[in-house]
This record gives sequence, structure tokens and C-alpha cells, in this order.
Amino acid sequence: MKQKEEKTKGETLEKRLGYKRRCFWEIADEQEKKQAFNLAEEYRKFLYKGKTEREVVNITKAILEENEFHSLTLKGENHNKFYRINHNKNVAIAVLGKEDISNGVNLIVAHIDSPRVDLKQQPLYEEKETKLALLHTHYYGGIKKYQWMSIPLSLHGIVIKEDGSKVEVVIGEKHDDPVFTFADLLPHLAKNEQYSKKLAEAIPAEKLRLLFGSIPFTDEKVKDKVKLNILTILEEKYGIKEEDLISAEMEIVPAFKVNDVGLDRSMIGGYGHDDRICAYSALQAILGQNNPKRTSVVFLADKEEIGSEGNTGAKSQFIKDFIYDLIKLTNKDSYDVLTKTLMNSKVLSGDVNAGVNPCFVNVHEKQNAAHIGFGVCLTKFTGSRGKSSSNDANAEFVGEIRALFNKYSVNWQTGELGKVDEGGGGTIAQFMALYGASVIDCGPPILAMHSPYEIASKADLYSTYKGYKIFLQFA
Ligand code: MN
Ligand code: MN
Repeated sequence: MKQKEEKTKGETLEKRLGYKRRCFWEIADEQEKKQAFNLAEEYRKFLYKGKTEREVVNITKAILEENEFHSLTLKGENHNKFYRINHNKNVAIAVLGKEDISNGVNLIVAHIDSPRVDLKQQPLYEEKETKLALLHTHYYGGIKKYQWMSIPLSLHGIVIKEDGSKVEVVIGEKHDDPVFTFADLLPHLAKNEQYSKKLAEAIPAEKLRLLFGSIPFTDEKVKDKVKLNILTILEEKYGIKEEDLISAEMEIVPAFKVNDVGLDRSMIGGYGHDDRICAYSALQAILGQNNPKRTSVVFLADKEEIGSEGNTGAKSQFIKDFIYDLIKLTNKDSYDVLTKTLMNSKVLSGDVNAGVNPCFVNVHEKQNAAHIGFGVCLTKFTGSRGKSSSNDANAEFVGEIRALFNKYSVNWQTGELGKVDEGGGGTIAQFMALYGASVIDCGPPILAMHSPYEIASKADLYSTYKGYKIFLQFA
């Protein structure tokens, strides 16, 4: 038998004193690898079915009801698993814990809106000479506009008619559905119009016009014949007329499926990992809680991509009101208890970070950047320039979560969003910190963030889910 080579003194010291992030695929056992692949299979379905915040809320509601969560009403509640939906676009979920709630809750927040292109309120027009009908749009969130040109797109949303009834529209997902597209300029004629411009200016926002039809209505007296023909189809199929689109929210999203990526199938490609990968992980984590020590809460927010504004964004009073109602369930109807509860709460702000893209390594300082496949990422601060608009997590709380993840063998790493002064970005963390709670950003790194086709590692999905579950249970 070959004798085991003894480690040198330096090697032993290096192992004891140094820190290195670790690749999940190198350290996980076969069972955990299999669990990661199985979880990804379920997540793929969730991601494909939930392409808008409203769709994610609907799917989440169905999953919660299957798992015996009840809508929180405060009318003689005698169970401990609750949810509440706010304006059909965000949802709060709770499992009451054994401890007094004023000791704080363990809260995971994630957002379920993703960058996309919305229809304007009067979208439909006909371009005279070409006899093509198009839809005017207004993009939502940070997109690189050129990435949205000449790809198949689908249309998801709702239309509120004058009588108040709601029409739900999804076109472009069934295999025989038509799709839509923003037709790009051919390279042969792009010299002055695009090639000579800066990338960010090559596609002005007003050029994102959705190709929508080309057959004219047969009537010489009518001016916009193609437009009228489209209106007749809209009436026939959906019972809507042009004015109804003013009270509509129609979102243009990629018509792509969600795929395994790589010959080893280790990654997942699809639209909206940011931030539905955290939303899904948080949902799965709270489903597994039955009688936790501290009350578990998950908040899936809307409007993060435009600054958490509005009555469905994380800046609204919704989550605070939900936690206040949880307090009322234990008969402590006092505002002081609410403040104490929030101050004592622990929050994981579940959001994605930027994984190092091997083709664009220059924008990162690699030692402090996250790598896909190396686990869930603890991000102490986000923001831009000198940490502006950032929740800078307290070292004490970073220490607590790090120790917790180590104790339960969660594969984790740390990461910063790009080199200093390279750009930056924010998350919901700062708004949760306003309540006085301890908050840290915690989510998987992804590649091609905010593109129509983002890439996540199955390893990091699994590590995120496991980390969230451990947090709800033991933090
Ligand atoms: Mn995000
Ligand atoms: Mn984002």
C-alpha cells in the first residue's frame, strides 16, 4: 500500500489559516448532487410558468393552498401557516413559530418582477407605406435593448374592461401560438444607423416596436386598414376594444423555454432567474417549516427592478402590516410590539449577484467576485461608488449567518457586484433595514443578468434553497 504523503508545515498552516471558496461539484456527495438536479427540474417548470409577477403570484398561491397555507383573515384563525396577496402582484407567507414573536421573525425577501418591455397605453398603430401594424412599448427595468431585438417574444398580461371585468392574455407560449418580435436592422444597412454609434445608443427605446400584423381590412373607406383588422381580431378573441388597452398591463417577455445548459447539464438557462430563483428557493424553504422556533416569513415583492416603488413594491407598508396582523394573532395588539418585532428580526434579502463571466473578467476584482457553481453568495453590501444606496450588513450579522451556514454545510461564498467604480446596483435589503432589522443580501450568482436568457448553476439553486431553509429553521 502506498504511504500517504505527509503534508508540509506550510501546507498544514495554509489549510488552517487560509480561506478559499469551494466548488459545489467538487465537495458535494452523490446524494446532494442528485438533490440539486431534482430541485432544478421542479424549478424549471416554475420559471417557465411564471413569466410575470402576476403569474408567479398565481402559481405560488396554488402551491401554498396545496400545502395547507391559509389566507390570513384574523377571523378565528386556528392554524399556523398563512399567506396574504397584495394587489395580485406580491405575496407574504408565514409559519408561526414557538417563540414569542416580539423576539423577531426570520424573514426572506425576494422579488418576482423581472426586466421586460411593457406596452404603452395606446400601443397600436399602422405604419402607412409599409402596411405593417406595430405596438409602441416602454421598457421596464434595466435592459440592454439590443438583446431584445429579433428574438421570439410573447405577450402576457391583463386587460380591465369598462365594466370592470378582467381579461387574461397569454400569447406565444403554446406550441401553435403566434409570437412577436422587434425586427432588427440588417447588417448590410447598419453602417450609419447603428455601427457608428455607442452600443447603448444603437437601439433607441422608441425603436422597440412590436411587429403585430400585416393584413388589411377590406374596405376602401377605412384609413388604417391593417390596424382595424387587428382590432377586429382582438375583439373576436378577447372581447376588447382599443380603449380597453388603456387600462391594461401587457408585458412583452421572451418566448423561450427553460433549458438545461451545458453538455453536463449543470446549468439552467431561462428568462427571469433575477429574481425568481430566490423567490422559488424561499417558497420551497418555507414549505418545509412546520413548527419553527422563530416565526418564518417570506415576502415576494414586486417593482424591485424600478426601485421598489408603488403599493406592490418593498417600500410599501404591506409587509409591515402583514407582520402586525401576525402579532394580533397572538393577542398583542400594540404598536410597540410591532416595532420590537421588526427591530429583532433577521432578514435575508434574496437577490442574485453577478457571477464572473469568463469572457468579461475585467469588470470584476476576481478575489471578491462570486463564481457560479461555488454556492449561495453572501453580499455584505451592494450600491455604487462609495457604497451609495447600500445596506452594509453589520459584521456581527455576517458572522452569524456565516457560522450558521458552516454548521449545516451550506456551500456559500462571498461576492461584490463588480470592481469598485465599475457600476453597481441595489436590492431590497436597504428598505428592510429601515425597520431596524438585521439584513444581508444572500442569493446565487448568475451569468448574463437582465438579459432575455439568464444562466444559473443548479449547484447554486440548491445551495440557496438549503441556506434559506437552514436560516428559517435555525437562525
Ligand atoms: Mn434582483
Ligand atoms: Mn435585477
